[in-house]
Amino acid sequence: VGNVYGKIIPIPFNLNTLNLVYGEEKGNILKEKLEDAYGVGSRISILDLRKSKDPDIKAIADYVYENIFLKYTMKQWGQTPEEIAPSVSGRVPVLISYDNRYFQDKYQGMPLDGYTKLFENLLNHENITIKLNTKITCIEDMKEAKNIIYTGPIDELFGCKYGRLPYRSLNFVFEKESYQSHGVVNYTVSEDYTRITEFKKLTGQKDDSTTIVKEYPIPYTGGEGEIPYYSIMNEENLALYEKYKELLKDRNIHLLGRLAEYKYYNMDGITLKALELADELVKQEVGINL
Ligand code: UDP
Repeated sequence: VGNVYGKIIPIPFNLNTLNLVYGEEKGNILKEKLEDAYGVGSRISILDLRKSKDPDIKAIADYVYENIFLKYTMKQWGQTPEEIAPSVSGRVPVLISYDNRYFQDKYQGMPLDGYTKLFENLLNHENITIKLNTKITCIEDMKEAKNIIYTGPIDELFGCKYGRLPYRSLNFVFEKESYQSHGVVNYTVSEDYTRITEFKKLTGQKDDSTTIVKEYPIPYTGGEGEIPYYSIMNEENLALYEKYKELLKDRNIHLLGRLAEYKYYNMDGITLKALELADELVKQEVGINL
């Protein structure tokens, strides 16, 4: 859901949100207009919706743009929705349906014992050695291995010699109290943070106290302790990424993940990509098709 000047509304904007904003009578008329224009059950990005020539649809688009996208995107990226790659705001389309869920995937869930346990179990294997505090600062550190899967920022392999690849970061501020109605509330128009997550609403944990986190978007400069979370995908930055990638041509390095591929991945998408790469490498190594 979103918190819009204190009022809680379903996000992604959908036909339930439409009724809340316009009232049921006008909402139903507008619903038919939207269904006629885009089809029952369809999904449309806010930037495309704003191109509508129909004054009623344009008014809905302007409401959604002003109250859900503009200020949130300014917080998150320091840029307007027009300035960032269209695929980014397209991640949260307007839904011409009554589906209130943030994600529409058929299967959604949480690991039974949490992510920490999941990764502990994955790494607890006799063929896996973990070396912590071992910074790979340059590509020459990697000469010896046969196959390397690299998941860090590509520019750092080359001492950032063409300049830093730009990222956005987040400052996660944890607080403890009983807090909100939903697992995640987006603050689309007010406050400096973009959202508050209350974990026990996601896990179903029963406890008198609670833990919430507020996400404050911040710039990423590459300084000690800073974490790059989001690649800032635009023509200039993608060209810089390609320049670094060119330096890896003919090397035994496979780039994988949000950082190394300078891409916006969800967890399911990157898990699939990792499995595909693993299959490919195993096939090369032992000739077995998994
Ligand atoms: N967005 C927005 N308002 C919202 C939710 C999303 O403006 O309430 C825009 C914003 O630009 C954001 C993008 O859509 O960066 C993608 O949102 P998503 O929730 O997928 O971001 P993530 O969870 O990856 O941070």
